[in-house]
Amino acid sequence: MRWLLLQQELGRWRKAGRKPVLWWRDDDARAPSAELDRLLTAAAAHDTPLTLAVIPDGDLKALSARLAGETLVSVAQHGVDHQNRRDGPAAGEFPHAWMRIRVATQMRAGWAKVSGLPGAVQVFVPPWNDIHPELPAVLQDCGYIGWSAWAETAPLEKAPRVDTHVDLLRWRGGARFRGEGRILERLRELLAERRQAGLWAAPVGLLTHHLDHDEAAWRFLDRFIAWTQASGDIAWRALPDLLAELPVEISPVARKG
Ligand SMILES: [Zn+2]
Repeated sequence: MRWLLLQQELGRWRKAGRKPVLWWRDDDARAPSAELDRLLTAAAAHDTPLTLAVIPDGDLKALSARLAGETLVSVAQHGVDHQNRRDGPAAGEFPHAWMRIRVATQMRAGWAKVSGLPGAVQVFVPPWNDIHPELPAVLQDCGYIGWSAWAETAPLEKAPRVDTHVDLLRWRGGARFRGEGRILERLRELLAERRQAGLWAAPVGLLTHHLDHDEAAWRFLDRFIAWTQASGDIAWRALPDLLAELPVEISPVARKG
């Protein structure tokens, strides 16, 4: 039933002569693993571009070797060490009292490690989607070409931002597959919202975490990507391409030239 409703929505896009844009981000890679192999195999099997958000807190040499030749994969920087330093219920790496220079120093050190990986693009993915108040300024200070967090549809920011919107997992009480019905219904809603707002090019991001998938999550992921590719009604795009096409906020200083 959910597949049918999603197909109906895709039919509305087809009638309008449009194709929804999807992109795929997987978080928390640090090293090769059987799960990473399974993820890369799924991307390759369906010829689908994938962005790995990599945590730069250890030796990335083994991961670098594993990613050599993986032409569908781009690599972004997932925070600095994925440690929570915030007080209170919301997690984040950088206490919000930290000054801009301190955040920038940490982020630069992380990027120095990630930048050596095959497919690396200078894109920042903040763990737990925590947005330090100085983050947009630091992204500019450090030369990031963009960033990615959660849930915004067509954000206009100082640095290009492409978010994810559909999480394969649910997290409360332990990570597990969110469920086919919930995922397909959420995707249908997001596509309907974009169609109704005329935001045809606003991408929908699929978020996965290969180290946390249960078997049901893996099976759905494979089936879902195969289905989208077979339908021909969805355009999977690579993150670097999406970022390159985004409009950005022009600051008054830049405008003065
Ligand atoms: Zn993470």
